[in-house]
Amino acid sequence: MSDYDTVSADVEHEEEIPEDHPRYQDLLTRHRIEAGVEKGITHLQGMHAEGRGSAFDYLLGEETIPSADDAERAAAAHLLLADHPVLSINGNVAALVPGEMVELAEATGADLEVNLFNRTPERIDAIVDHLREHGADEVKGLEADAHIPNLDHERSKVDADGIYEADVVLVPLEDGDRAEALDEMGKTEIVIDLNPLSRSPQVADVPIVDNIIRAVPNVTDHALELAGADEADLRTIVANFDRERALEDAEERIRSGEL
Ligand code: ATP
Repeated sequence: MSDYDTVSADVEHEEEIPEDHPRYQDLLTRHRIEAGVEKGITHLQGMHAEGRGSAFDYLLGEETIPSADDAERAAAAHLLLADHPVLSINGNVAALVPGEMVELAEATGADLEVNLFNRTPERIDAIVDHLREHGADEVKGLEADAHIPNLDHERSKVDADGIYEADVVLVPLEDGDRAEALDEMGKTEIVIDLNPLSRSPQVADVPIVDNIIRAVPNVTDHALELAGADEADLRTIVANFDRERALEDAEERIRSGEL
């Protein structure tokens, strides 16, 4: 009998998922995406993205590997050093970690901006409302009065005083084309993605190969711990982070299958 056979596929509330279930995190993640689709904040395609992520997380042992923790610390240092950090929110991010993104924004002084691959006014409004329900004050992404160069019109829309002018952007579960276009704009890009071979982590200054439900709270913990650190110390953390090693470590862990 598979793990899935032991838990009904249609739990109504996440509290019904037993915390001691061996695949608890996966069931929780899947449930939140389903709930996001039902609430109109997550596109149906978000379920496919979730399925891909889930397979990689299984192979990573569903834990934050040491190189991912290093990346999460470097991400915190980048966000604290930034003049204008922005955290990008798509439908999966809103479904999985709404309150956690609000907490990270507060810990680092970053703006939150809704940025959708399948953009409709209804979904933008639903996500903004959802973030407000989870404690957000201001949420950007409604103006969409600027464009990321080298992307098609709909996919390129951002706020002029948000992602467009940001120096550091956190783009979790980002589409490869947009991650590349943001990189070409010269931004410091932090990507959270469970697939180290995906284009988004490949172009990131800080690729975090970890499940977003573990990664975001951990970046916040690092940011709170580093809040009083000297600028020189933050710069040392940033300089010592090795993006190639982080990607190689994650790939090695996935390929070795040593769980
Ligand atoms: P590319 O970046 O090359 O366009 P892709 O088409 O696989 O790759 P998308 O479907 O746009 O990418 O984005 C989904 C990505 O997000 C996948 O790489 C998937 O592994 C990752 N992902 C899905 N769920 C999570 C999660 N909970 N935490 C972290 N990463 C996740």
